Amino acid sequence: MEKTLVPHPHRKVAATNNLHKLKEIRPLLEPDFQILSLQEIGCHEELPETQDTIEGNSLQKAMYVFENYHYACFADDTGLEVEALHGAPGVYSARYAGEQRNSKDNITLLLKNLEHHSNRSARFKTVISLVGPEGIQTFEGIVKGTILTEERGTLGFGYDPVFQPEGYSKTFAEMSLEEKNQLSHRAIAMQQLVKFLKGIKS
Ligand code: IMP
Repeated sequence: MEKTLVPHPHRKVAATNNLHKLKEIRPLLEPDFQILSLQEIGCHEELPETQDTIEGNSLQKAMYVFENYHYACFADDTGLEVEALHGAPGVYSARYAGEQRNSKDNITLLLKNLEHHSNRSARFKTVISLVGPEGIQTFEGIVKGTILTEERGTLGFGYDPVFQPEGYSKTFAEMSLEEKNQLSHRAIAMQQLVKFLKGIKS
């Protein structure tokens, strides 16, 4: 079979096999762009994520796919940055309470570490890196909010039950997926990526 060494300009790899993320991004870019998952390009290994910043990890993942599979690729990385904790858990959000990567444990530790703090300001940050033959582009999405003292809501994932976005009375875990997708950090970063790619195309 012929190996694609020159990236197809309208074909991009989303550095994920997460069906929710693919379902979110595909309708925004197709049919102008064909969005492939890691599985579809035969990348079955775990992508390296060893940097100590959110930016660094998103770039590392996209770069790995471009260099090893010769497809233009975009990768996202997200973290929760809490002001009173000097930006923690940040890049370590998934494994804040340990390598078991358990959301309940992460929330419990976060609330414990914030117990004696009156400043509950926090923000979610998503960085998307796009790496291709034209170079590197980065896109950022930020949502400011507050960490509550106890969980509220059962929807969503990760830190959603304790994060209340600024200007809203509900936590992310009390919002439907559609509602959260209208304002989330990931949605903001994705919208910028889409705007950029559509700009290239038109
Ligand atoms: P990832 O880079 O998308 O894998 O996100 C890293 C970690 O940040 C996740 O494991 C979650 O703990 C947390 N996280 C990312 N996005 C969200 C969100 O939208 N709500 C709550 N937690 C999130």
